[in-house]
Amino acid sequence: MIGPNAVLQLFEALEEVGGPSLRNAFRTELHLPARTDFTRMIPESMAAKAHRHLRNRYPESAEQVAGLAGEKTANYILANRIPRLAQALLKTLPTGIAAPLLAMAISNHAWTFAGSGSFAIVRFRPLIFSITGNPLTAGDTAEDPVCAWHAAVFQRLFRILVDHRYTVHETQCSAMGATCCQFEIFKEMSSEPAPGPARTAAQAKHLPQSAKK
Ligand SMILES: [Zn+2]
Repeated sequence: MIGPNAVLQLFEALEEVGGPSLRNAFRTELHLPARTDFTRMIPESMAAKAHRHLRNRYPESAEQVAGLAGEKTANYILANRIPRLAQALLKTLPTGIAAPLLAMAISNHAWTFAGSGSFAIVRFRPLIFSITGNPLTAGDTAEDPVCAWHAAVFQRLFRILVDHRYTVHETQCSAMGATCCQFEIFKEMSSEPAPGPARTAAQAKHLPQSAKK
């Protein structure tokens, strides 16, 4: 089982990008059971199917939609899962303390976004997360990292609670045949955050050298 936001926020993002007709079309194409209850944990196979369908059916906008859905998921977490006092405390602490504290808080709630996958903090400096057996890449193969939803969830939480310059790159992905999905979380050196949702390594490849970390 996995948190319902893995699918629910895809619907919200699709509506924001393409209006209610796109949201409804996508939902119809998924052939979800009529009584699917999105107020509870949902089967991982359902979430995997939704993300796979997004990538296969809408390849041009899949990354944008998944990134937007990740940001909306982070907004839900900020509104409902992390106590206000803890958020206020994280914002006042130095980055060197706040970042590992947030990483551990994310690790403690990994079941909501990693399901049966195994989440780990690989290193603290630089900060690297991994998800082994990521259920959202199940049954999919790709040439570039595909986990824009996870990257965007992490990036928004770090940007809001630690420092607005944080950026997340997925540096390897199980959809590419890697043993796990791996996410590098780092602060951009410029004073302005990188625009838009989290970038995958594939996008970062095409950036000019000066725009990389
Ligand atoms: Zn991945």
